[in-house]
Amino acid sequence: MSAILTLNAGSSSIKFGLFDADTLEEEAGGQVEKIGGKTELDLEIPGQPKLERRIPAANHQEAVTAILAAIAPYLDGREVVGMGHRVVHGGPDHAAPLVLDEAAIAALTRLEPLAPLHQPHNLSAVRAARRAFPETLQVACFDTAFHRGHPWVNDTYGLPRRFYDMGVRRYGFHGLSYAFIAGKLAEDWPALHAGRVVVAHLGNGASLCAMEGGRSIASTMGFSALSGLCMGTRPGQMDPGVLLWMLDDQGMSSVEITRVLYKESGLKGLSGLTNDMRALLASDVPEAAQAVDYFTDRVAQEVAAMAATMGGIDALVFTGGIGENAAPIRARVLDQLAFLGFALDASANASGGTRISSGLPALVLPTNEELVIARAVRDALRGRARA
Ligand code: ADP
Repeated sequence: MSAILTLNAGSSSIKFGLFDADTLEEEAGGQVEKIGGKTELDLEIPGQPKLERRIPAANHQEAVTAILAAIAPYLDGREVVGMGHRVVHGGPDHAAPLVLDEAAIAALTRLEPLAPLHQPHNLSAVRAARRAFPETLQVACFDTAFHRGHPWVNDTYGLPRRFYDMGVRRYGFHGLSYAFIAGKLAEDWPALHAGRVVVAHLGNGASLCAMEGGRSIASTMGFSALSGLCMGTRPGQMDPGVLLWMLDDQGMSSVEITRVLYKESGLKGLSGLTNDMRALLASDVPEAAQAVDYFTDRVAQEVAAMAATMGGIDALVFTGGIGENAAPIRARVLDQLAFLGFALDASANASGGTRISSGLPALVLPTNEELVIARAVRDALRGRARA
């Protein structure tokens, strides 16, 4: 009996999950938030009330140490035989999880310029985990990997070809979530899995994936996690001429522009209030309603674009915090897409049903990125045992 630990590190937070290494039953999960500040650790054990505690954690290393201490009682003497890490960028070469050694970590570190706000934090958790468990198998699972089979037209921009060769490609992200949904479709909705499905991962970050036969054909996210849909604090699709105007006319620095694009735009910037969709839906401020209008219109536009790239659509899946929980958003998207054949089932949508339309199927499927990471670790452990 042994265990697998998954880590999903952001700039100031680390989500974690503890799984039985054989059954992949999730035994504990939670997150450390506000690393470097008033750090808090939340621990959730299935069937028990959530535990919240303040912990000292000045950096990711200390946060990982705190996570290990928090899960120790649930290990019950078992060994952590593998650790899985969400790593945002695998670059052009990685279409599958990667067992990490020093050379692999160095190679992933060279990709940091492609995801400067995420990759360094992902890798600092990897380094902290390796220091804590030097003998344990460490596996990186990439947000980009699921999309690496994109046809060339959906992998490039209309720039001079040398930029493609230099790595300016439409990588796409949220791949762990899409891999989970593809697996769920294969299990429970095999006819849809075989067809043309648009998956809408709508959370703080948001994107769509066009899937044919369970494989990614296109994504609304591209070179960075900025493009495509309107997000919590990111603008999504915009004219690159705006960036030139910010630089040349407004004299803004790249640091200022980065802050606007990653932290101050999207639902937060448009509403002037918050990036929290629940709060926006409850607000009677006109700008909140406008932000929601922009968000839903962008989703509907891009679903239609994804359908066009696949030559049709057989189903739409909603997932992510907004996709799974915000019934009014799903209703508005489906109403706008009625021309494609969706007919909202208002009562199923409001009551938490899985299928929320008659006509063309629209489904709500909760995602589980941690489980995708745990599966990858188990596969790597089995591969190692066979070798
Ligand atoms: P992240 O991308 O950070 O993982 P999540 O997938 O957790 O984000 O999604 C967070 C978003 O989900 C927030 O905008 C939040 O308001 C929204 N959300 C969560 N629950 C609800 C709900 N019941 N109604 C509307 N929005 C919700």
